[in-house]
Amino acid sequence: MEKAKIKKSGWVSWSEDEVKLLKKLFPRGKAKEIADQIGRPLTAVRQKAYSMGLKTRECHRWSANEVELLKKLYPNENTRSMANKIGRSMGAVMKKASSLSLKNVRRPTPWSRQEENLLKKLYPGNTVREIASQIGRSASAVAGRAHKLELRKARRYPVWSKKELNMLKKLYPSRTAQQIAEQIGRPVQATRLRIVKLGLKKKFRYEESHRVVSGVKQKRCSGCKQWKAENMFYRARYRKDRLAVWCKECANKANKRFHKKRRLAVRD
Ligand SMILES: [Zn+2]
Repeated sequence: MEKAKIKKSGWVSWSEDEVKLLKKLFPRGKAKEIADQIGRPLTAVRQKAYSMGLKTRECHRWSANEVELLKKLYPNENTRSMANKIGRSMGAVMKKASSLSLKNVRRPTPWSRQEENLLKKLYPGNTVREIASQIGRSASAVAGRAHKLELRKARRYPVWSKKELNMLKKLYPSRTAQQIAEQIGRPVQATRLRIVKLGLKKKFRYEESHRVVSGVKQKRCSGCKQWKAENMFYRARYRKDRLAVWCKECANKANKRFHKKRRLAVRD
């Protein structure tokens, strides 16, 4: 067989021989075999077949080896990984498994005392994903078990004090969540959540931030609080007055701050 030339940049276009093989074997459900033979990833084979409109014949019979493999994998693996290993679609795998009544075989492995203790220890300070990889169970299994054991995440911040809540209420109409969060010393996410919980609303009245001075329409910037002609604001199609909340100067400054912060974050 003529071998496809592989450039450094990645996968080259399919050779005639490869396409011929694909046409011959793919309808018979042998995507994996094709991938092995021509040395391309299984996903690439599937993609190429799809782009050529090739389909697997659903009725293609499972070989004894495939059935054996399915039975072996079934208790411990999810459908996607089984499909990949067997080289059939997830739908085909599920159908076959149900026709073999495999679904009754699958039972979750019970949690050992040791695993539970580890979970209890790790849960407050780690994400479910981290714990899952450490224990060797799926994230959903870990989350489920934690729920059952009524485990709780450690509170990294104390409950909101009355003083903080009052400050939030006072500041919200004129400040952004980001500014308030910095002032109070809590994460922005938590501050936003609290704002939603308290049902705080910005008091925004059109007349309070719009006026006409000697024939020139002006708007008050909510950043620098200065009255400026409307052409000093960028357009914002989604806003009622079609203008940004901040004047161009404030917006540019904020933009610069954002990018600087991001550059620093990337460098770290
Ligand atoms: Zn401004």
